[in-house]
Amino acid sequence: MIRFYDTMAREKREFVPGDPERITLYVCGPTVYNRAHIGNARPAIVFDTLARLLRHVYGADSVVHAANVTDIEDKIMAAAAAENVPIDVITERYSRFYFEDLAALGVPRPDVVPLATQTIPEMIAMIERLIAAGHAYAAEGHVLFDVPSWPDYGKLSRRPMDEMIAGARVDVAPYKRSPADFVLWKPSSADQPGWDSPWGRGRPGWHIECSAMIEAHLGETVDIHGGGLDLEFPHHENEVAQSSCSHGGAPLARYWLHNGMVAMASAKMSKSLGNVVRINELLDEGHKGEVLRLALLSAQYRQPLEWSDSLVAQSKATLDRLYRAAGDATAAGVDQGVVDALSDDLNTPLALARLGAIEDSGVLRSSAALLGLLGQEADAWFRGGADDEFADIDAKVAERVEAKARRDFATADRIRDELKADGILLEDGPGGTTWRRS
Ligand SMILES: [Zn+2]
Repeated sequence: MIRFYDTMAREKREFVPGDPERITLYVCGPTVYNRAHIGNARPAIVFDTLARLLRHVYGADSVVHAANVTDIEDKIMAAAAAENVPIDVITERYSRFYFEDLAALGVPRPDVVPLATQTIPEMIAMIERLIAAGHAYAAEGHVLFDVPSWPDYGKLSRRPMDEMIAGARVDVAPYKRSPADFVLWKPSSADQPGWDSPWGRGRPGWHIECSAMIEAHLGETVDIHGGGLDLEFPHHENEVAQSSCSHGGAPLARYWLHNGMVAMASAKMSKSLGNVVRINELLDEGHKGEVLRLALLSAQYRQPLEWSDSLVAQSKATLDRLYRAAGDATAAGVDQGVVDALSDDLNTPLALARLGAIEDSGVLRSSAALLGLLGQEADAWFRGGADDEFADIDAKVAERVEAKARRDFATADRIRDELKADGILLEDGPGGTTWRRS
């Protein structure tokens, strides 16, 4: 039995999918205008691990995992203006970086990755339905969701209305009927990106994109909606309002899962831009993606996680130990204790403790795969490179041996120098050429 803590119910509930052959998981994705930081990686890794558990329990083809990319937003427009380029130069660059960074952490691209700019007609159609149903109104080129029109507003985040109104007052505007009303559509000036709509040329508010994408790709109600705790209000509260009101009251999600935030343990870890450490910086410093992944899974996902140098060092030591135990064994059956730990609201600390106690190396390897760990051969792990890099170096060494055999010493020396520049030293001995890291 799988149980998840459901934010809407404020308790752990047995997981019962609507259709066990098509379990739908939606996770709010990034707004792509800069490099992702370690806090952005946490939901991606948590919900990837959750998808791995569901695929193990329900079957490999039973899960549809969708995560959006927000590729139209004011911060993107500001970044594009700063570089004097169209917004798609910014969004293509940073979404490519985002998926590269996550791939290094063992997170594959989700099954469905909708882009906001490719979902505009669906958003407009949903806004039109909300207006027709009396839950939204147009004013001065904007369309706003009419919060007082829906008495259930606030049920997810359980905030009192006066607090929500106080929070919304920062962007109080004359066209709003109530200060809590939020933007579904806003006008674009001639020099801003925009799309034609019944309310004039403009662009969507942020919240409507997730509601429209979920409807378009997964249906009215998803099994699991995930995201960071910082999105619970207002973003998820607004998603619930938009979706339920355009679907005759149908719930948006059967289970709401929120991951806790990542905090930096010391000011030293916080680099240039406030309280952030970027994934690519950590990788460039030589930390392996799998170490960062284990570090982010070391706390149960709902708990806050304190990021520190010692957490990273401990995670490296844990992985070294696990790789030594796994050796070059091939995957065997999965340990039920690991499955049980993950099935209890994704208790990754318990699952990791359990991994450390598994004595069969094949079972260890396949059980670790449920957490996206031990993906390499132990040999490759201890030689310091990823499998691809390892193969790449071996190919260059072989190329140099061939060059020497045909007495092409210029090529042989060039290859040796290229490898040296990458920190790889070659040693020619009686048994052939070996390499090591300098
Ligand atoms: Zn969302």
